[in-house]
Amino acid sequence: MRPLLAAVLIMSSVFVQWEALYAQGSGDNVILMTLDGARVEEIFGGLDLDILRSTLPQGRAVEDTPSYRQFWAPTREARRQKLMPFFWNLVTAHGSIAGDPESGSAVRLRNKHWFSYPGYSELLLGEPHDDVIKSNDPIRNPYSTVLEAIRMRLNLPPEKVATFAGWAVFNEIVEHQEGATFVNAGVEPLAGGGADLALLNALQAEAGTPWDGTRFDTFTFRLAMHHLATARPRVLYLALDETDDWAHDGQYDRVLTSLSRTDDYLKQLWTWVQNDSEYRGRTHLLITVDHGRGHTPKDWRDHGAKIEGADQVWIAFVSPQFSRRGVWTHHAPLSTSQVAATIASWMGVDWNAERPGAGQPIRE
Ligand SMILES: [Zn+2]
Repeated sequence: MRPLLAAVLIMSSVFVQWEALYAQGSGDNVILMTLDGARVEEIFGGLDLDILRSTLPQGRAVEDTPSYRQFWAPTREARRQKLMPFFWNLVTAHGSIAGDPESGSAVRLRNKHWFSYPGYSELLLGEPHDDVIKSNDPIRNPYSTVLEAIRMRLNLPPEKVATFAGWAVFNEIVEHQEGATFVNAGVEPLAGGGADLALLNALQAEAGTPWDGTRFDTFTFRLAMHHLATARPRVLYLALDETDDWAHDGQYDRVLTSLSRTDDYLKQLWTWVQNDSEYRGRTHLLITVDHGRGHTPKDWRDHGAKIEGADQVWIAFVSPQFSRRGVWTHHAPLSTSQVAATIASWMGVDWNAERPGAGQPIRE
C-alpha cells in the first residue's frame, strides 16, 4: 500500500471512531421539568398567608380554610416541607436548589418580557430574543432549540427527545423544525395501544379546562409516564401548566393543591427512574420555571414586564455530577439562560459551540 493511501485510511478510520464516540454523547439521560409561573415564595416558603387571606370573602377566618389546615406551619422551612415534601427531601439529600432570596441566592430571567413563550424559549435557546420572541401566540420558534441539537448531535430518533406539555403552544416553542423531536402538547391524544392509553386520551378531551388550548396537568403527567416507559426517551421535558392558570384566576387554594400534586408526580417519576437500571444513577433532573410573578396580594396573580420581581425565579438540580446539597447560598446570580447549555453538557453536547451567546453551563 502506498504511504499516502495508508495515511488517508488511518485518518478516516480515526475520524469515524471519533464521530461514533461523539454521537454517543455522555450516555446519560435528562429530565427537564417546568412548573409554569410557580413563585419563589411558595417554593421556598410554602403557603403565603397574606395571599391566602386576600382571596377570602370578608369575615372568613383564614384558619377555617382547608388550605390552612393542610399546608400551614409556623416556619417557612416547615411550610415548604408540608407543601412539597418529596421535592424538599430530594433536593436536600440528593440535589440542590438556587433562587432563595433569604439565603443570598438569586436566579433571574435574561429576557425582558417575563411571560411564558419568551421564558420557555430562553430556557431552550439559552438566550433571549426580545425583539422577535415577544408574544404567547403559536408562532414557530425562529431558532433551533437545544432539544433539536441534542437529538441531531446524538443521532437519536425523534421520540427519544420528547416534550409533554399542558399548553398547546409548546408545539411551536420547543422546535424550529416541526417534527425534529417528539411533542405532545395541549389537548392532544398520544398514539399507541392499550386500554389505559385509550381512556387517558378520551378523558383529557372530555375533562375540559377553563383555559384555551390547555389540559389538566394530570393528563400531561400520565401521558409522559406512558412515553417514558414505552419509548424510553433520553431527554424528557415535562411542562406543567396549572400553577399559572389557577394564579391568573385568583384561585390561590388551587395553586397550592397543584404544587402539592406536582410533588406527588415528581415522586412517581423519580421512583420510576430509581427502579430502572438504565436510568438510575445516569439521569439528571432539572426543575425550573418560565417566569415569576408579583410578590404581593395586589399583584401575585400577574406577571410580565410591569410586575415588579416577576423575573425572580429558581432552579432545582439533581445530577450525578453535582455534589452541592440543599439551598444554594451566597453565590453569583444564575440565570435561566444557562439551562440550555447545562442540560446539553449533561448529554455530552456543547451548546455554546452552536450558540456562543447562550448562557454558560451551570457549575458548582
Ligand atoms: Zn401566565
